[in-house]
Amino acid sequence: MLKLSHISKTYQTGTEVTHALNDVSFEIQPNQLTVILGPSGSGKSTMLNILSGMDRPTTGSVTYDVKVINTESDQQLTEYRKKMVGFVFQFYNLISNLMVAENVAITAQLVSKQYQQPINDCLAQVGLQQREQNFPDQLSGGEMQRVAIARALAKHPRVLLCDEPTGALDTQTSQQVFKLLQASKNPQTAVVIVTHNPLVAQIADRVIRIRDGEVEKVSDNANPLTVE
Ligand code: ADP
Ligand code: ADP
Repeated sequence: MLKLSHISKTYQTGTEVTHALNDVSFEIQPNQLTVILGPSGSGKSTMLNILSGMDRPTTGSVTYDVKVINTESDQQLTEYRKKMVGFVFQFYNLISNLMVAENVAITAQLVSKQYQQPINDCLAQVGLQQREQNFPDQLSGGEMQRVAIARALAKHPRVLLCDEPTGALDTQTSQQVFKLLQASKNPQTAVVIVTHNPLVAQIADRVIRIRDGEVEKVSDNANPLTVE
């Protein structure tokens, strides 16, 4: 569904050149939870930016379904990101002066009406119907992240990209978030978690380990840990 072929990314700052990614290839499949695992500085943010169409590789190709997207226009890349990609961030990125229901509605509206699922359904999916009138600062961290997941799912993304989604949460709350993310994969949707936490690999169908900008290992997990 989403395929990276021989991706390299070089940053040049003045005379200093950084090879953030070097000949990276892998595929992301729907109905799977993929974990991209790597230590700080290994190239995870760079990879996220390329997967989401926020940035382009220096060389190599990004293919979405059968279409090479990295050579598309800026406008088309933005279109891809808006329609196809849902985001979940470490620090939730909710809009503080909007209520929960409005936070969830906002990305769905950005896409188009036909993608809109009633907001109540999305909040029910993450167990937060009773919170729709609350503001983000009235919620716990775990609840904020569940709202962020509802917001991302409201537009039925083909790829749900999660950047350290439990990086700011305690272990028990993290389990709830992982359970929801595991439940979010379906035949139309791939879930991708980018993290430095090796424990997260246990819940993955596929683990892509990166180090120093290179894919160290890709492993498929026939029996991922089901989060209860
Ligand atoms: P991670 O997210 O795993 O910490 P990054 O993708 O942020 O890794 O960084 C990979 C390497 O690329 C690091 O050496 C980092 O300093 C460098 N890098 C990332 N973004 C930039 C940028 N915009 N300009 C210059 N160097 C960058
Ligand atoms: P993360 O916490 O996700 O690993 P980073 O701290 O690696 O994030 O990077 C945060 C942002 O800063 C990234 O979007 C990246 O583009 C940029 N960045 C990282 N390293 C550098 C660098 N050496 N020079 C310029 N920008 C950088």
